[in-house]
Amino acid sequence: MRKFRNIAAATIAAGALLALTACNSGSPSDPAGGGDAPEPDVAEDVALEGSPTYDRMVENGGPTIGVKEDQPNLGYLDVTTQERSGFDIEIARWIAASLGFSEDQITYEPIASANREQALVNGDIDYYVGTYSITDNRKEQIDFAGPYFETGQGFLVSADSEMTEVTDVSDFNGMRVCSATGSTPIQNIKENYPEIETTEYDIYSQCVEDLLSGKVDAVTTDAAILIGYAAQNPDELKVLDGLFTEERYGVGLPKGDTVLQEHINTLFTEGGDEWQKIFDATLGQSGITVEQPAVDPVG
Ligand code: GLU
Repeated sequence: MRKFRNIAAATIAAGALLALTACNSGSPSDPAGGGDAPEPDVAEDVALEGSPTYDRMVENGGPTIGVKEDQPNLGYLDVTTQERSGFDIEIARWIAASLGFSEDQITYEPIASANREQALVNGDIDYYVGTYSITDNRKEQIDFAGPYFETGQGFLVSADSEMTEVTDVSDFNGMRVCSATGSTPIQNIKENYPEIETTEYDIYSQCVEDLLSGKVDAVTTDAAILIGYAAQNPDELKVLDGLFTEERYGVGLPKGDTVLQEHINTLFTEGGDEWQKIFDATLGQSGITVEQPAVDPVG
């Protein structure tokens, strides 16, 4: 993987990433990202000729969607109410509705970062929506629709840390940094920054636990994810200024289902203000402003 310097101001044209760093300490009214998300109209008379994944969804009476459930504002499960919320969840619901499926027909399957490709290859899920960066490596096994969001790698530290910004990832040399197995941020650290001590878990919330208890010095992953954790614990945690890498989120699809891929890309391109409504009701609640990225037809 390419070694990234702090690219917030340099190579990323989209003001998106800058906006993300600018608002580290947003405190949403509902940290789980459960604003009033729009209820998308369920499409009628859908026909996706030539999509084996769609055929399977119809056969099963609805889609099985791979998601995250410990990422506030993005993919979150409230264990008390059993309600799922967040930007990725609403994107997943929007896609399902466009395929003719209502909320009660959806089965959600929590799948950790390291297991996403395999779940799609095995046919355990029909599609995946969960902070899933489009990468060439992953494209060897699966396809992506999108991108539908852009962010970059950031760092979460204790609120009483003296650090306020990261100028280079190597600022963490000699420190203990935690991330999720199989994720792009952990790969970046392991491949390019051997002097950083790493701790890995399946899910980021375990890293956050370790940070809160002082077992690690920082958690690293996409800034969009970290902002949600900081908002849940504003007195204990903060996101540092400085973004590294470009993370473009795609919808993970079984390889070769170009019909489904095109359907979702068309939805993103021609969906009017639905994307904005979803964003405003979820991630936007933490005060960040991000624009919808243009779809890349080849994923
Ligand atoms: N977007 C990065 C990735 O796909 C990190 C977030 C995640 O692990 O889901 O690896």
